[in-house]
Amino acid sequence: MEYEPVIGLEVHAQLLTRSKIFCGCSTSFGEEPNTQTCPVCTGQPGSLPVVNRKAVEFAIRLGLATHCRIAPFSLFARKNYFYPDLPKGYQISMYEHPLAENGFIEITVNGIKKRIRIIRIHMEEDAGKLKHGETPEKFPYSYVDFNRTGVPLVEIVSGPDIRSPQEAGEYLRRLRAILQYLEICTGDMEKGTFRCDANVSVRPVGQKEFGTRTELKNMNSFKHVEKALEYEIKRQIELLRSGEEVIQETRLFDANTGMTVSMRGKEEAHDYRYFPDPDLVPLRIDERWIEEIRAGLPELPDQKKERFIQQYQIPEYDAEILTSSKAMAKYFEETVALFPEPKVVSNWMMVELLRELKRDEREIDQCPITPRHLAGMLILIKNGTISGKIAKDVFEEMYRTGEEAEKIVKERGWVQILDRGEIERAIEQVIEAYTKQVDEYRKGKEKIFGFLVGEVMKKTRGKANPQLVNELLKKKLKE
Ligand code: ADP
Ligand code: MG
Ligand code: ZN
Repeated sequence: MEYEPVIGLEVHAQLLTRSKIFCGCSTSFGEEPNTQTCPVCTGQPGSLPVVNRKAVEFAIRLGLATHCRIAPFSLFARKNYFYPDLPKGYQISMYEHPLAENGFIEITVNGIKKRIRIIRIHMEEDAGKLKHGETPEKFPYSYVDFNRTGVPLVEIVSGPDIRSPQEAGEYLRRLRAILQYLEICTGDMEKGTFRCDANVSVRPVGQKEFGTRTELKNMNSFKHVEKALEYEIKRQIELLRSGEEVIQETRLFDANTGMTVSMRGKEEAHDYRYFPDPDLVPLRIDERWIEEIRAGLPELPDQKKERFIQQYQIPEYDAEILTSSKAMAKYFEETVALFPEPKVVSNWMMVELLRELKRDEREIDQCPITPRHLAGMLILIKNGTISGKIAKDVFEEMYRTGEEAEKIVKERGWVQILDRGEIERAIEQVIEAYTKQVDEYRKGKEKIFGFLVGEVMKKTRGKANPQLVNELLKKKLKE
């Protein structure tokens, strides 16, 4: 029997407000433990939370950008559970009345467009951080740092519409891009400002009902999410094939083994005994404010993509990749402003630049080649100073050293050979060395021509102008 996976993602994103969601404490990251706290976010008796207007605005921005309906009435609720990083004994979240509902994000996988529904977006507070260790006397200890307690989060719950790990990755990338375009979240999975829990089940192809799902946690990169899902889908299918059952539970991904392991049985919503938080008034969001926020939205990934296709006349595939992050789009536009041949810029970015960045696991804003440097190199190709072939070496050097193309070309003597005499000398040497091949070519075996061009290029260490080599070699062979 064939099985298909069903996946739904729950994403927590930290909002980039300067203060916390229910108090005035700073959200600044990496400070001394417990220096960004007050009676409210450490849960002192008698303290009262007050909602941060900016956090609500940011959450509305996200709701609008993902085509959600913003609820005119939403309600903070207490989610009760005990954990040492949660000083109040409950987390303030939203339950029956979330801030936004019924939206979608469009993804493209293998050229096919698909909408993934957003079921709900709600606001909540982050928990603190635990640090486990050992004292010098070898006693185990745990410290708790409340600096993160009360940092605003949005939770974005997708519909069970995702059908492969690849689609899950694409959905996450798109969602992160939207958050970054909106400038409301850094989207850094490694630092935990963008976190994902993945729900996954499998079912026989053709069956309508969903199978029993597990929830995967502890994945701190896009790669991990895709790997964890792949492993888990396989595990579930094997269970079902051998006549066993999938148990509904939470499982942890182990990046070292690439496997998921059982963490705990699935808790149900009623275990949390949610109830409306009596200290916070309901949110009533008026239409005017929503429209104001809508009017202030920046250009979003989908809109930018459309504009790129129109304005720069590049294929949709290119536009999709170039708008996948705000930084990438900016890089492209800055380069094109200096070297106005969009498709050429796009090709260099999508092939060479992305390959280097991927190998180093760097983001484009950490790229050692600036838009000005890339444009500078493209100008050298265009004006004939270097060949396209040499340019690849120049590019690698620019990436390695962070220097300008012009400097690299000059210092290494990589200037293209345009001198006919010099090229002709190389051609003569090649013709002498390969008399047999030359004969075959002259007898009509035209394929040999490419080989001979290659040899001439080798002789000139790749520096000869390829058009000239072609032209002069043809002439010479006709003699
Ligand atoms: P809970 O609150 O218990 O986590 P939800 O109903 O809010 O449950 O669903 C959480 C996520 O799980 C959603 O993204 C949803 O799309 C997904 N989901 C629900 N049922 C399944 C299933 N059978 N298989 C895969 N994903 C599912
Ligand atoms: Mg859940
Ligand atoms: Zn505080």
